[in-house]
Amino acid sequence: MEFNKSFFLTHPSSVQILIFGALITSLWLAEGLILAIPVRKKWRHTFTNMLFIVTALPVQLFMTMFVLLEAAWINRNHIGLLNRLPWHQSILVKYVAGFIILDFCEYLYHVIMHKVGVLWKFHLVHHTDQKLDVSTTVREHPGETLIRMCFLMLWIAITGASFELLLLRQTIQTVSNITSHTQFRLSDGIDKWVGLIFITPNIHHVHHHYQLPYTDCNYGDVLSVWDRLFGTYGKLKPDDTVFGIDTHPDKNVCRSFVKVLQIPFASKRT
Ligand SMILES: [Zn+2]
Ligand SMILES: [Zn+2]
Repeated sequence: MEFNKSFFLTHPSSVQILIFGALITSLWLAEGLILAIPVRKKWRHTFTNMLFIVTALPVQLFMTMFVLLEAAWINRNHIGLLNRLPWHQSILVKYVAGFIILDFCEYLYHVIMHKVGVLWKFHLVHHTDQKLDVSTTVREHPGETLIRMCFLMLWIAITGASFELLLLRQTIQTVSNITSHTQFRLSDGIDKWVGLIFITPNIHHVHHHYQLPYTDCNYGDVLSVWDRLFGTYGKLKPDDTVFGIDTHPDKNVCRSFVKVLQIPFASKRT
């Protein structure tokens, strides 16, 4: 038990990659088997998305070093909102309140990525997938990976999140992000209750609809409460949901890793 605990804390990147890889692979296989999608067809779609890992993962790992150094320095010096709250040493404040505050930061990040033109050009790469499945989770421009990690450093500076909180948050976030992109949907009855608090596939699929106002709703990362609180919650029937983005409808562009990678630097105003 002690070994597992120390391994988890001393090899955060390896453990995260392991959890990420195991969950995404098992759900990918389950999608193919249960929904009877031919492997060749599914693999063609997945291959483009997998290539984004090759460009984004080095950025993610490089920036993680700075994130960990920052978190250690912040905590040594007791900086940030969480260190100023009453009972800041209690599990309730350190982990529960910390998790909720960081989740709000992620909601804010997602809104900013949609509303600031230059940032949207990077984030829209995630939205160009015209067939949503679990592999869409990794469809992120390396430029967005860099921006996301810089924002994470900002959130750590503001909140004073500890290394342990970041690890807990990252693990839950990984599970939530992967499951919200699966082709599996919850039944309406279950979604009605789970979706009151958490982002479900049903909720996140609406965010991937190709047209406004749906693209600009359901920004939540793990919790759906922020969308409900700030009026950005949206509903759309599965039959009416069309994945992609209306500014980039060309299938050949959206299927090409190189062409999609060039989108943020193209002169087209979107
Ligand atoms: Zn988005
Ligand atoms: Zn998504």
